[in-house]
Amino acid sequence: MEEQTKYLLNENDIPRAWYNINADSPVAPEAVLNPMTNEPVTPDFLSVLFPMGLIEQEVSMDRYIDIPEEVREAYKLWRPTPLIRARRLEKALGTPAHIYFKYEGVSPSGSHKSNTAIAQAYYNKIAGTKAMTTETGAGQWGSALSMACQFYDMPLEVYMVRVSYDQKPYRRFLMETYGAEVNASPSPKTHYGQKLLAEDANNPGSLGIAISEAVEMAASSNGGKKYGLGSVLHHVLLHQSVIGEEALKQMDMANEYPDVVIGCVGGGSNFAGIAFPFLRENLKNGQRTRLLAVEPDAAPSLTRGIYAFDYGDTACSAPICKMYTLGADFMPASIHSGGLRYHGMAPTLSSLYAQGLVEAVAVSQTKVFEAAVLFARTEGLLPAPESSHAILAAINEALEAKKTGEKKVILFNLSGHGHFDLSSYNKYLTGQMEDYALPDEAVKNIRQHIPAIKENALV
Ligand SMILES: *Cc1c(COP(=O)(O)O)cnc(C)c1O
Repeated sequence: MEEQTKYLLNENDIPRAWYNINADSPVAPEAVLNPMTNEPVTPDFLSVLFPMGLIEQEVSMDRYIDIPEEVREAYKLWRPTPLIRARRLEKALGTPAHIYFKYEGVSPSGSHKSNTAIAQAYYNKIAGTKAMTTETGAGQWGSALSMACQFYDMPLEVYMVRVSYDQKPYRRFLMETYGAEVNASPSPKTHYGQKLLAEDANNPGSLGIAISEAVEMAASSNGGKKYGLGSVLHHVLLHQSVIGEEALKQMDMANEYPDVVIGCVGGGSNFAGIAFPFLRENLKNGQRTRLLAVEPDAAPSLTRGIYAFDYGDTACSAPICKMYTLGADFMPASIHSGGLRYHGMAPTLSSLYAQGLVEAVAVSQTKVFEAAVLFARTEGLLPAPESSHAILAAINEALEAKKTGEKKVILFNLSGHGHFDLSSYNKYLTGQMEDYALPDEAVKNIRQHIPAIKENALV
């Protein structure tokens, strides 16, 4: 039989339901706390920021949640995404392992983030939301939500981390092309931004600050504007489950089953998307796939953070969640993987990691780019720096298999393309890239940076 490289599904294979890991997780989800009172949030508090459809998903214990037909219609613009066997990479490594990847870079905005952007814009639209606000780091989330808001005819205000706004203008131009208003964060438009700019007019910004600004604009809008977050929250992870559900079918077409499933983690959504359906198979159907989350050593929340209740943003105005965190005022080094610079990790993923159901590893930036370049030269696709963390871990697994002779089956998620990241590639190729592993000193101090609430006394 002729050897196959791409495994393609039809439009009617696009999943009809999102998969909710909370229905199968051995441990119940932790409460989300109101940052003003430290008491569990009420739906009223959340409804200032989110429409009811998304709040219901945030707390749902239903195993499957139907995907609205209108959302499936929009998914058809790029879904199902291909599953590809990386035969040339396997050959270059000389490994007996089989390496597969799910390619989410075919979405119009270039990453998996469109999977949740469409859903969030849809639930806001049907709830009567007039406009949305959000933050963006490198710009991938901002681009995805800009497109989605345009589809549903809602204006979008984006707060973009200032260093990226200045240094990576092309993502901004894309958001503006989709019709969004993009502000450098900290911005003079918000009270919080004004305060920070008065202290330091050259504040470079951070994801935590940009979240605070976007939350402030929604919270002070008297209900007209709502806020969208591109990762971390449970409903975002839920929307990404289409990745893993499709991958399960495609691995079946390839007549193989993965020994290990790998994804990079910033807030945890693309990893959750590919891994949770396989975790369901582990928990319910006796499979034993390893699930490996890969983070940058400059922002290593899972491998070096602490598991505690912490603020989701720098101004301490967003809900408090129990998660692996480096502290809400953590200022990550300016690594080239802007999408992986968040201080915390999705509470759902944090809980599964704490239970030992998921593994994690931290890797350094220059090694990541070395892997990215090898991948581009063998498979032809230019990966996003974020996604390349998963490539590096997949390569390491394949080289391990080469040593042992194991015919391991490896699946990783290629969460996005790197067409807007070429200046980072140039830095790497011209020897100007550095590593920024988080110093031990910073890790020791995390405890002093988390809120003093009674649950945290126990960690
Ligand atoms: C945003 C982003 C990430 C990191 O976010 P997660 O929520 O952890 O998936 C990874 N890859 C790409 C391409 C991104 O845009």
